[in-house]
Amino acid sequence: MSGGSDVLIVGGGLAGCTVAGQLAQAGRAGDVTIFEAEPEAPYDRPPLTKSFLASEDLLSAWPVWAPRDVEWRYDAVDSIDLARRAIVTRSGEVLTASTIVIAVGARARILPQRSDRIRTIRTAADARVLRDQVASGANRFLIEGAGPLGLEIASTLASAGVRVTVVDPAPAPMMRLLGGHLSDDVNAWAEESGVELLLGCRVTESHDTDSPTGVLARIGDGPLEAYDGMVSAVGIEANPLELHGTTGPVTSPILADEHGRILDPEGLPIDSVFAVGDIVGFRQPDGSIARSEAWSSARVQGEAIARHLLGKPSLQAPVPYFWTRQFGRMIQVLGEVGPGSEIKVAREVPGATGKLYRVARDGVPVGYIGVNAQRLVAQLQVQGGKLAHWRLGDV
Ligand SMILES: Cc1cc2nc3c(=O)[nH]c(=O)nc-3n(C[C@H](O)[C@H](O)[C@H](O)COP(=O)(O)OP(=O)(O)OC[C@H]3O[C@@H](n4cnc5c(N)ncnc54)[C@H](O)[C@@H]3O)c2cc1C
Repeated sequence: MSGGSDVLIVGGGLAGCTVAGQLAQAGRAGDVTIFEAEPEAPYDRPPLTKSFLASEDLLSAWPVWAPRDVEWRYDAVDSIDLARRAIVTRSGEVLTASTIVIAVGARARILPQRSDRIRTIRTAADARVLRDQVASGANRFLIEGAGPLGLEIASTLASAGVRVTVVDPAPAPMMRLLGGHLSDDVNAWAEESGVELLLGCRVTESHDTDSPTGVLARIGDGPLEAYDGMVSAVGIEANPLELHGTTGPVTSPILADEHGRILDPEGLPIDSVFAVGDIVGFRQPDGSIARSEAWSSARVQGEAIARHLLGKPSLQAPVPYFWTRQFGRMIQVLGEVGPGSEIKVAREVPGATGKLYRVARDGVPVGYIGVNAQRLVAQLQVQGGKLAHWRLGDV
């Protein structure tokens, strides 16, 4: 075993890089080592289902959020002993560190009993495979999952002239993000774009066809239909990583406290070991576990861990934020707009098709949804400063 760096970050995506970048800005670049499994990293993931799926773009550019002056090691980490703060890498290296930050993100989930032909988009390589399939003539796709990712993929493929069917058992598109709001609008946008959106039903059977990527699938009790390809967009699951805690194995999602410190199976924080980004879950007052899977959350969590490591006071967490671009529209969600809330138009964007909706529960504002209303959403975000509490209700 060799002694390692002061701060060892496992995963060089947005979350891990945010911690590393903040430490580097505070003059501690020399203390930080990032272990990263993917040879192409670091790069931003949101374009993968948008511009990058349509055509190769600037993935080679080094993202602004990724520090160059820390040590980058392109080797996956297979296991971590959290109590001893020791990692074992795929190449067999064993290292210890004073602080470990786990930022391994997640991988796309595929439902059981699906063919191994089914594609997902989590990495640039995944997006290239799908793009190449379309370039080589595949023109009818079935997408499982009408969440933001499934609909972004549908929207991008449809604009390339591909026939797309999206299927989801939920009663409304992007149910988890929009809580059932604006479903008539999203249905209409999909229809205008030629995307068939089938809600309230699921794929009940699928088989490979003789063509190299083709799939025969049945939706509900409908007929078996042939598709040139099938894509799974039904959420994410933890990346495999063996974790030994102080009192036994730590399973996913990794739970952390408000500073990002990993909790052992008994719920106590483990000294100097943190988790951040899509891999981490936080226990809610009602006992459920919340994970955010959003770009801005990875940033905010990463900044919070860096502040803790630098001995700076923590800042108030901002209202959650997620954006998605699809069917020619920018959709932005601030706050929690879940089921059971009421929605009404707060502002129309003059001269454009944009709208800002206010969402309230029992008359109390809980969030906003912007459709092509970037300026209004930006004003809301700026109101209280980047990390202060936005004043919902002021628009
Ligand atoms: C296709 C796509 C589109 C998205 N679009 C949006 C959007 O429009 N809006 C939005 O708000 N959010 C979006 N997101 C979500 C956002 O990109 C993620 O929440 C964010 O990337 C999470 O950052 P992360 O660092 O936790 O995980 P990741 O970005 O997944 O980074 C984790 C890194 O860890 C590495 N790694 C994994 N295992 C190991 C290991 N064992 N050892 C070493 N390294 C390892 C991985 O290779 C990866 O580079 C999108 C995500 C995807 C996949």
